[in-house]
Amino acid sequence: MIKNILVLIALSLFLQGQSQILKQEIPDKLVVLTFDDAPASQYSVVAPMLKEFGFGATFFVCEFPPNYKDSTLYMNWRQIKALDKMGFEVANHTRTHANVGKLSQMEFNTELEYIENKCDSLRIAKPKNFAYPGYGLNALALEFLQKKDYNFARAGGSRAYDPLVDHPYLIPSWATDAENKNEIMSSLDQAKNGKIVMLTIHGVPDIEHPWVNTPPALFREYLQYLSDHNYKVISLRDLEAYIDVDEAKRKIVPDFNKKLKN
Ligand SMILES: [Zn+2]
Repeated sequence: MIKNILVLIALSLFLQGQSQILKQEIPDKLVVLTFDDAPASQYSVVAPMLKEFGFGATFFVCEFPPNYKDSTLYMNWRQIKALDKMGFEVANHTRTHANVGKLSQMEFNTELEYIENKCDSLRIAKPKNFAYPGYGLNALALEFLQKKDYNFARAGGSRAYDPLVDHPYLIPSWATDAENKNEIMSSLDQAKNGKIVMLTIHGVPDIEHPWVNTPPALFREYLQYLSDHNYKVISLRDLEAYIDVDEAKRKIVPDFNKKLKN
């Protein structure tokens, strides 16, 4: 009897611990769409299509060298501002698409601050989330993101995000390209039992980086599927409604042994 009571107490303490990370239960079919590198098609193709379906999304922007100024290849800041005005999240991907695992803290700070200041000067909501360019990262980079008070940081790894297990600075994602439709479709099945599916998408199409190209027809197919099957499609910042980020950072130790690249 006493043993049973002790088991119940232990169980309720365990569940309390979990409920502190989660502000509310993660519903099945929760998908976060993230778009990297600010290619021009994200303004001309992606944003209107997302609006058509009523979906949220996060755009991780940078000034991709060397051709950032070529408006046929990349969005300009006026267009990035328009995404913010449309209700999408604009987030930080460093100024120069730098491998932050190889930067000093001062260099990392300069990279982050450039995007923060640009957003500030254009009255774009302050970027609170980050994506590692090229999935380059290390423990120091995580420490610095904490110092800068960022909420979430997205990595790769091709698996679902479990907010009770994965550290908020090591959020896994799948990356789409022209060839991996089957992999992406089956990834969407994993948005259940407390897990969230996050997709990393580049240009739709991507002219300058064809290895991460997602053809517009395929992208529409994904959105149609998500819509037809009643998925909830949100931005990374929308996850704050479900996850207490500070609590998750206190409780979860970053695990660098898991696959973190796509
Ligand atoms: Zn990138």
